[in-house]
Amino acid sequence: MTNRTALVTGASRGIGRACALALAASGARVAVAARNVEQLESLAGEIRAKSGDVFVAPMDLGAPESIKEAIAKIAKDFGSIAILVNNAGITKDGLAMRMKQPDWDVVIATNLTGAFVAIQQALPAMMRERWGRIINISSLVGEMGNAGQANYAASKAGLIGLTKSIAQEMGSRNITVNAVAPGYVETDMTQGLSEELKEKMIANIPLKRIGRPDDVAAAVRFLASEEAGYITGHVLSVNGGLYM
Ligand code: NAP
Repeated sequence: MTNRTALVTGASRGIGRACALALAASGARVAVAARNVEQLESLAGEIRAKSGDVFVAPMDLGAPESIKEAIAKIAKDFGSIAILVNNAGITKDGLAMRMKQPDWDVVIATNLTGAFVAIQQALPAMMRERWGRIINISSLVGEMGNAGQANYAASKAGLIGLTKSIAQEMGSRNITVNAVAPGYVETDMTQGLSEELKEKMIANIPLKRIGRPDDVAAAVRFLASEEAGYITGHVLSVNGGLYM
């Protein structure tokens, strides 16, 4: 993927950060997006120190105008996006019976609508170039459901439907669209889990450990590569075997 331009959303920490570093290490020029500019600058410094080409793109995935403006700026000042990694995501957990509508709305807006808007903005350049890679970060929870996460599970299952639909629409343009569905990964998102719950989870994972951001980044890097050019509409589980 040397010299291709990639955009990774939610790159300020966790899985997105690992994806940006992995793509940069493979020679991609990487635009990194999130709300926390300080963390993005720190990541950019790390990529530049390894001679990578990076562009900091502040973006709020919950606000379509912000996505449109930021992607237009990337195209103008850095390059047309050839690889889009829709990774930004949030949780607002609670039992469905008691879930407040704003908690439903913000999770769907950020995780699902944000990805859709980013795809819409990135597609014209990919279609022109007749080359593109779109990778949506779904979740094990999008495949299995999870009590207390109706909003999050719906957003992540929605990403799988979005992935397969755009894969069908864009196949003839040589644009592949795939999803990666991580299991439990050690990041800020899962930091709140008690040690007891973690132990219980590990007992159920065939590979007997919680995932690392790099485990997910490796799958993303593969799906973004030239070699993955005949894979589209796929959901790649990176979950230690927890769900097969
Ligand atoms: P994380 O550490 O909480 O990071 C989330 C990232 O998303 C941050 O960079 C955050 O940046 C960004 N983000 C959140 N809201 C945003 C918004 N409105 N606009 C722009 N950026 C926003 O989470 P993670 O564990 O790395 O998760 C990354 C992705 O993997 C998510 O989609 C998550 O659902 C998925 N996933 C995670 C796990 C897991 O176990 N960790 C499992 C399955 C799937 P700012 O706060 O700076 O904006």
